[in-house]
Amino acid sequence: MSSAFRAAVSILLAAACRATDGRGAVQDAPAVERARMVAEQIQARGVRDARVLAAMRDVPRHRFVPASQETEAYLDHPLSIGHGQTISQPYIVALMTELVRPQPADRALEIGTGSGYQAAILSRLVSRVYTIEIVEPLGRDAERRLTTLGYSNVTVRVGDGYAGWPEAAPFDVIVVTAAPDHVPPPLVAQLKPGGRLVIPVGPTFAVQELRLIEKDAAGEMHTRTVAPVAFVPLRRGG
Ligand code: SAH
Repeated sequence: MSSAFRAAVSILLAAACRATDGRGAVQDAPAVERARMVAEQIQARGVRDARVLAAMRDVPRHRFVPASQETEAYLDHPLSIGHGQTISQPYIVALMTELVRPQPADRALEIGTGSGYQAAILSRLVSRVYTIEIVEPLGRDAERRLTTLGYSNVTVRVGDGYAGWPEAAPFDVIVVTAAPDHVPPPLVAQLKPGGRLVIPVGPTFAVQELRLIEKDAAGEMHTRTVAPVAFVPLRRGG
């Protein structure tokens, strides 16, 4: 084997394990997968907000899925996280995040913590995130995961998110990631004038509609239906 050939092979092998970001910095394999996920699944479908795209490139989604599913973390579909619950498809997370137009000084509420992934994305874009999960082991795991990964501006509570989080209200942004059959009035009440609420609404285990609800400066509500979606139901009680 010629030395030139050997050198070419070793360069190719190195390229298979690492890639550079074009400015010469070495990136790890998951970062390369995330960049591809953002380009092919998210930008290709029309998400444009540069801060949202950057957060989707940064947050290590593979750390939010069960170890057995890590290799699927960056694929174009939802994944099971146990207890009959799912982490949404990357595109849906990006779309919902873009719809609520998160600003750096905003306070955000999420209903349905699940793995903590959506909360981690929001935490990169706003000043504080409050998130509520009804399944206690999921809430506790997500809290631990968010702390371990350094998302220190997220507070997790175990309980029924239908009632929102009155002590931390009002919110600029509310993201609901489980589907009720109607918009919970407490969430509308806890939205600031100028605030944005994104929520899937519809019957249990059927297609729901994703709605963007905005409260204007005068307190009037404006609703737009964005897309058909399929979320797990918003449960009551707990
Ligand atoms: N946002 C999550 C995925 C959410 S799946 C993520 O990024 O991983 C929907 C979650 O909503 C599930 O974990 C489910 O247990 C939770 N949930 C359902 N009803 C709820 C309620 N009333 N209050 C809070 N969480 C609820």
